[in-house]
Amino acid sequence: MDILQKLGILGDGALQEHELSANQSAPSCFTPQRIPDPYQHHRNPVVKGSGKFLPGGIHISPVGGGKSASGGVRLLKVLQTNICEFDCFYCEHRAGRDVPRTYVSPEELARTFMTLHQKRLVDGLFLSSGITKKIDTMQERMVQTAEILRTRYRFRGYIHLKILPGVSLAAVEETTRLASRVSLNLEAPTPQHLARLSAKKSFLDDMLTRMVWVKRVKDADPDRIPAGQITQFVVGAAGETDHDLLAAVDRLYKQIGLRRAYFSAFSPVPDTPLDHLPPTPLLRQNRLYQADWLLRFYGFSPTELVFNAEGRLPLAVDPKMAWAANHPEFFPLDATKADYEMLLRVPGIGPTSARRLIELRRSLVVTDPQSLTRLGVVLKRAAPFLLLQGRPLTSILSQTRVRPAQLDLWSPEGFQPSDRPLILEPDEIGR
Ligand code: SF4
Repeated sequence: MDILQKLGILGDGALQEHELSANQSAPSCFTPQRIPDPYQHHRNPVVKGSGKFLPGGIHISPVGGGKSASGGVRLLKVLQTNICEFDCFYCEHRAGRDVPRTYVSPEELARTFMTLHQKRLVDGLFLSSGITKKIDTMQERMVQTAEILRTRYRFRGYIHLKILPGVSLAAVEETTRLASRVSLNLEAPTPQHLARLSAKKSFLDDMLTRMVWVKRVKDADPDRIPAGQITQFVVGAAGETDHDLLAAVDRLYKQIGLRRAYFSAFSPVPDTPLDHLPPTPLLRQNRLYQADWLLRFYGFSPTELVFNAEGRLPLAVDPKMAWAANHPEFFPLDATKADYEMLLRVPGIGPTSARRLIELRRSLVVTDPQSLTRLGVVLKRAAPFLLLQGRPLTSILSQTRVRPAQLDLWSPEGFQPSDRPLILEPDEIGR
């Protein structure tokens, strides 16, 4: 088997091509692409594309922003090996499943990556691995690949390495020495939920403890892993609620400095123990990303978000609009007086437009809706919640060209029910 055939098996492209729709991410050792602020996009965003396939089925994943002609950092996402003794119930590579198995040596992988990089086909590497009893050996092979890239080829670009559950502290230290970013996928919000996804992974000992080690290593040497550590959850296969997931990620942000969490809508893989479950609607995944954004950048706590009796975010309306609609006591706010924190609570206003508005108010009296539009405020979402100089913005707009029908609280762009996934674009590397 030549290297291209191997990478065709070990890349995430093989799975995406054959078993998932182009818009769904693989709930496995890989992590889905990053997303931008869902509230800076005025409609439910759409996937920009699932990347491109090179000869041999190598999948080039467009993530991040700004470095390539397509506007994204193109990652070669690949496993060092898909030989795995673990049994994750959702995974295409689980032990005993009948799939081609192979391994690529650190030398081969580093050389092939550099060839692709020199041909300007890829910008960075995302490397994961199946797991055998010799967990440190599996981790060491990924470290060797990165070491060859960093030393022999003097590659200074982005390398994302997986931390395998159960690895030693020494292996964690070596990995963080070379990687731009590391990740260990928790997959579930609690040990009880993880037990429904894997009989071999220990939530506290094998996974959370390693994530704490990563934090300690980075605390001791802030120059390491400049893009931090991240994790991923499989959504909808373990009976977890959205509240369970968001409470877990909130703790991870606060306690171990997690850079961010990813949510991967469960999609059943044939011939796995969970293949009888229905796929999770992508809209649920999208609502989780929107709620996650509220936790990280909008000052919300998980307990403030609106959940239904089953602990799920409403699907018909985005989490920020759901919160605003449930708190009429705070509205309408006067855009000419409200402080930054309250402006952030207004649907249609994000951190950038809130900052610009506060800045503008220092030198000007804001009197017309067009000024708000120029600052980035989405009037169709924000109008029902705002006053301008004491007058309801809706009535000001109704006297202008904006048709009142567009001001209906429950029909603005941005929270129509949709199964379309979020756009996956700007880069957070190093942010
Ligand atoms: S550890 Fe689990 S998720 Fe990773 S390759 Fe093995 S079975 Fe799949």
